[in-house]
Amino acid sequence: MTENRSGQPAPALPEVPTDLLIGGKWRPATSGRTFTVDNPATGDVLVEIADADAADAAEAIEAAAAAGAALAAMPTGDRAELLRAVEGELRARADEFALLITLEMGKNLDEALAEVSYAADFFGWFAAEATRIGGDYRASPTGATRVLVQRRGVGPCLLVTPWNFPLAMATRKIGPALAAGCPSVLKPAEQTPLTSLLLARVMTEAGVPAGALNVITTTRPADAVTAVIDSGLARKLSFTGSTAVGKVLLRQCAAQVMRTSMELGGNAPFVVFADADIDAAVDGAMAAKLRNMGQACTAANRFLVAEPVAERFTAELARRMGELVVGPGWEPATDIGPLIDDEAAAKFRWLTEDAVRRGAKVETGSARAQGRFVRPTVLSGVRPGSALLAEEIFGPLAPVMTFSDEDEAVALANDTPYGLVSYVYTRDLDRGLRMFDRLDSGMTGLNVGVVSNAAAPFGGIKHSGLGREGGVEGIDEYLDTKYAAIRA
Ligand code: NAD
Repeated sequence: MTENRSGQPAPALPEVPTDLLIGGKWRPATSGRTFTVDNPATGDVLVEIADADAADAAEAIEAAAAAGAALAAMPTGDRAELLRAVEGELRARADEFALLITLEMGKNLDEALAEVSYAADFFGWFAAEATRIGGDYRASPTGATRVLVQRRGVGPCLLVTPWNFPLAMATRKIGPALAAGCPSVLKPAEQTPLTSLLLARVMTEAGVPAGALNVITTTRPADAVTAVIDSGLARKLSFTGSTAVGKVLLRQCAAQVMRTSMELGGNAPFVVFADADIDAAVDGAMAAKLRNMGQACTAANRFLVAEPVAERFTAELARRMGELVVGPGWEPATDIGPLIDDEAAAKFRWLTEDAVRRGAKVETGSARAQGRFVRPTVLSGVRPGSALLAEEIFGPLAPVMTFSDEDEAVALANDTPYGLVSYVYTRDLDRGLRMFDRLDSGMTGLNVGVVSNAAAPFGGIKHSGLGREGGVEGIDEYLDTKYAAIRA
């Protein structure tokens, strides 16, 4: 690890709203309570913002419901224009958003800029999708009736996002909701609410109608979310976060028979066959492991490498990871910022120590951490039963195991309750497509280490979730199908 501690203070926080946005008005929490948002690199307080309670959340969903009819009636071309206007603003203000993401979340500025661009893509994509919401016409087999099918927005939505991609996880939900004419309540993660607040201001200034987007920031997410679900006004929940919380929310939504989209945790295998281009595989591994310092649901969690190339792949990965510069995200030399909090650093240490205790060898890095700054670490010879094979690591820690043939690779890869993404490196096209068929994951990267893309149906199977975000599938999550039987 190269230390990067210039001792320079953090840049100033861009000006952000600190109140709740409800029905087009910014206001403090009814209780007057506030909470602090911290810079994970320094532990310093960035700003104090409103801490909503259940009553504020109930008011937010009422405001969304009140805005519903007008938004549903807005021509799809007008919705598309609004989305394009916000996309333009995000791109024009990319540096400001990127700095804000770096300050509240920790990732380096280049990664934050990439997130802004990815986030803006969803508004561009769903602007186009808004104008393509269509229907269908059929004749009944008897000829007695005509069947007219139309699709319309599901109604008020609750959008709950995690801390790791504070902008993109929000736009991936707000984009299709608005395109479908659905008003929403956004509840960002308490660690990183500022990006959502700035986004909401930008959207309001771009002309998004009052009540179409409401934002609730809170330290009591269960209370706020429960109030919205129990109101009976929300017709849909789109949640991105941990599988454990997703399961709780699925149960809660069942009581209201709500539509749900669940983007949950992952445990991605990264499979390297002996015929792979090893340099390309290492490049892909760096991207799949280290995007967001490993704090991504798509992060490669287990490296499964064919025996004949394992030594070369592991040595090269260790060399590349060992060269990375660790430091505060705003410093230009930084590759790897801090983990989000002390708990995340403690988990990184514990998972590393557990694997080493069970026989793994440290190829680079260590379990040692300086606060939230941890060394990118590669472990070889990881033994079955090590905790990091079953847990989402969420840090720059790469465990390598070997396999002897394709069947063993598939068995190891699928040996998890999760099924979000898998990565496969091979030069054999037939094998690549066979692996795509055989792997139990919603997404597969074939000779590529990043699958996120606004045009693609992002999502998982098994315990990784339900539904898809992005692609032509993304807007379906916010549409109901209605049909009229018409006498022929
Ligand atoms: P988390 O589940 O702790 O929190 C996610 C959101 O849920 C936050 O807004 C939080 O405030 C809220 N929340 C927490 N407890 C709640 C409760 N009891 N009731 C209602 N809301 C509650 O997850 P996190 O730590 O913020 O994010 C990391 C997780 O998100 C990882 O598991 C990661 O894999 C997953 N993730 C998945 C995707 C995907 O697209 N599949 C993308 C990013 C992150």
